[in-house]
Amino acid sequence: MSDQQSPLPATIVESAAAPPHRVVVVGGGASGLELVTQLGDTLGKSGRAQITLVERARTHLWKPLLHAVAAGSMDRAQHELNYLAQAHWHNFTYRLGELVGLDRINRQIHLAATIDDEGREITPASSLGYDTLVIAIGSVTNDFGTKGAAEFAVPLETPEQATRFNRRLINACLRANAQTEPVRPGQLHIAIIGAGATGTELAAELHRTIRSVVAHGLDRISPERDIHIVLVEAAERILPALPERISLATSALLAQMGVEVRAGTRVSEVRADGVVLANGEVIPSELVVWSAGVKAPDFLHDLDGLEANRINQLLVRPTLQTTLDANIFAIGDCACCPREGFPTPVPPRAQAAHQQAFHMIRQIRNRLDGKPLENFVYRDFGSLVSLGRYSTVGSLMGFLVGRSMFIEGYFARLMYRSLYKMHQSALHGHVPTLWRTIAGLVSSRAEPIVKLH
Ligand SMILES: Cc1cc2nc3c(=O)[nH]c(=O)nc-3n(C[C@H](O)[C@H](O)[C@H](O)COP(=O)(O)OP(=O)(O)OC[C@H]3O[C@@H](n4cnc5c(N)ncnc54)[C@H](O)[C@@H]3O)c2cc1C
Repeated sequence: MSDQQSPLPATIVESAAAPPHRVVVVGGGASGLELVTQLGDTLGKSGRAQITLVERARTHLWKPLLHAVAAGSMDRAQHELNYLAQAHWHNFTYRLGELVGLDRINRQIHLAATIDDEGREITPASSLGYDTLVIAIGSVTNDFGTKGAAEFAVPLETPEQATRFNRRLINACLRANAQTEPVRPGQLHIAIIGAGATGTELAAELHRTIRSVVAHGLDRISPERDIHIVLVEAAERILPALPERISLATSALLAQMGVEVRAGTRVSEVRADGVVLANGEVIPSELVVWSAGVKAPDFLHDLDGLEANRINQLLVRPTLQTTLDANIFAIGDCACCPREGFPTPVPPRAQAAHQQAFHMIRQIRNRLDGKPLENFVYRDFGSLVSLGRYSTVGSLMGFLVGRSMFIEGYFARLMYRSLYKMHQSALHGHVPTLWRTIAGLVSSRAEPIVKLH
C-alpha cells in the first residue's frame, strides 16, 4: 500500500513559527540507536527536529555479542556504549524509562517509574509527547510456556542475563573443583534449547571457553569426562531457518568438537537437574540456556489498539508505518513488515534492523519535507554462523549471479565481523571505528582469552 492511500496524515510540513518536530524513538538497540545517532547528527544538530531516545537501560551492547559474553570470550565493558554520552556527542536527548502505554489521540507515550537496586525511585512515571513515534523495542525469548523454563533456564536477551549465565558457569566449575565427592552426572553439563544461530554459536563458543577456564588450574575436572554440551532442537535439523548446506557443515563441525546434537527433539519441561523431553527421557544438566524462538514484548499486543500478530509484533505497512496510525512507525524485531514476493515477513535479524534504521532516516526527512514516503525493501545479504575460533560458515547473496554462495573459514569470519563494524560505523563514524578495531586487536593480545570472573 503506498503512503498516499493512507486515510491518516502522512507528511508533516513545518511552518516558520512552529516548534521543532518531535521525533521520539523508543528502544536504543541495533536499530533505534543507529537511528537517533544519525538523526541527531543531522536534523537534531540543525535544530530542524528535536530527537529523543527513550530507553530502559543505561548502556547499549549489540545483541549478537551476547553469546560471546555468556561464554566468557568477551568482556562486555569493552563493547558497551553509554546512552548519556552518545546523546551528548550526537545531539539527541536520552530519557531513561520503560514504555508501558500509548495515547494515540493526544500523541503521548507513557513511561513507568524507574527504580534503583535499593528500591529508590530514580525517575517518576511520566508521559512524553511526540509528532513522530518510532517503536524499536526489539524482541524477547519465547519459551512457549514450557514448564520450568522461566525458572530454571537462562534466556540470552540482555547483557545482565549473559553475564549471569557466565557467572553460573564459572561458579559451577569452581564448585566442582572444590568438592570432595566426584563430579555428579549433569553437574557440568550444559543443555542449550534451540539450535538457531544463537544456540549453535553459543555451543561452539562454550566448548572452547569452558576448557580454557578448566585449564587455569582446575585440575580436579576432566573436560573429556565431566563436561558435556547438548544442543536440543525441535526441527529436524539445526539452523532450520538457514540453507541446508550451512546446517550440514555446522553439524559436522559440532560433531568433531564432541557437542551432542539432538534434532527433532521437543522439550516438555526444564528442571533444576535437567531437561525432560517429550518422550519422557531426561537429559541431566544443571546449566540450561533457552534460545528457542523470539516474540515481541507482550504489552505490544494491546498498545492503544495498534494491530499486532500472534507473536506481538506490530503490523506495519511497507513504509514502516503501523497499519492504523501513520504517525507511529515500528522497526527491527518488534515490527512485522511485509516482504514483497515472499510468504514470510522481514526476519528478526541485525541486518534487517540496520537497513530499517537507515530507511527510517529517509522517511523522517521525507515527512519533514512534505514528500511521499518510500517503501522499505529488505535485501538479504546472506547468513553467517560463527563457531568461535573453530570456524565460520555461511552463505552470501551473490546479487550479480542471483543465487547464494557457500563460504567458510577466514573470509566468512571477516564477513561475519563486518556486520558489527557497520553498526559501530553508524554509531561512531568510519574513522573512529577503524581506530577502535586496531586498539581492540592490540589489547586483545595482552588479555586472557577467557573471562575468569
Ligand atoms: C544472543 C543473540 C545473538 C544474535 N545473533 C545474531 C546474528 O549473528 N546475526 C543477526 O542478524 N542477528 C542476530 N541476533 C538478532 C539481533 O540481535 C536482533 O535482530 C537485533 O538486535 C534487533 O534489533 P532491534 O533494534 O529490533 O532490537 P534490540 O537490538 O533488541 O534493541 C531493543 C532495545 O529496546 C530496549 N527496550 C526494550 N523494551 C523497552 C521498553 N518497553 N521501553 C524502553 N526500551 C525498551 C532494550 O533495552 C534494547 O536496548 C541475535 C540475537 C541474540 C539475542
